[in-house]
Amino acid sequence: MRQQIVAGNWKMNNDLSQTESLITDLKNAKKTSKAEVMVAPTFTNLYKAFEALTGTDIEVIAQNMHFAENGAYTGEISASMLKSVGVKTVILGHSERREYFNETDESLAKKVDAALANDMRIIFCFGEVLADRKSGNHESVVESQIKKALFHLEASAFKNIVLAYEPVWAIGTGETASPEQAQDMHAFIRKTLADKYGSDVANSVSILYGGSCKPNNAKEIFSKPDVDGGLIGGAALNADDFFAIVNAF
Ligand code: PEP
Repeated sequence: MRQQIVAGNWKMNNDLSQTESLITDLKNAKKTSKAEVMVAPTFTNLYKAFEALTGTDIEVIAQNMHFAENGAYTGEISASMLKSVGVKTVILGHSERREYFNETDESLAKKVDAALANDMRIIFCFGEVLADRKSGNHESVVESQIKKALFHLEASAFKNIVLAYEPVWAIGTGETASPEQAQDMHAFIRKTLADKYGSDVANSVSILYGGSCKPNNAKEIFSKPDVDGGLIGGAALNADDFFAIVNAF
């Protein structure tokens, strides 16, 4: 069975004391599902979060990283720096990184390579904008994003890759893809993987849904056969809501 995963992306929210308080709430929450749980604080709070969550089954992950190992890249953070503070998983390709920081499929391919070269696990995000969905191009957009950033990899790399389908029109908007829209796209993604790498690889990769996933809709979305969990933004900032989603499995 594929690994079920619920990951919270805290984005640029929570200073140090807010991070500590959210972590205290998370540690007090009761987990009743088998889903793997991850949270992604800001860079400045990664180490504190790692220390505070060591010994729990909540993994601390990063929201981004640079592809270079070190050097003249002011303001950036490398894979080995993340690893040095205990982080083993990184989110790459979030739509906010693509939209506001000009990340492209080509630059993301380099980040993917750098993360894998450092034995890190990747949650790789992609998804169409509203215009693509309205014009019926959503599948070809997603196919192109996946192919350009990931299809240069060997099949064995996919044991360290989790995919996150995040329709941009559903992120932070309160609008969610319907469970059927999510399932259709996840099945399409799995078929795209199977066509290139075979069904063993395709059936082993966890595909998360992201986009206004909340306690009141998670159960229905997670009940779909190709949906293996969620990447959660807004609802991850409240421990009760986040664990209601984790426990929706
Ligand atoms: C996200 O940022 O990945 C996300 C899915 O956000 P939200 O849950 O707030 O839509």
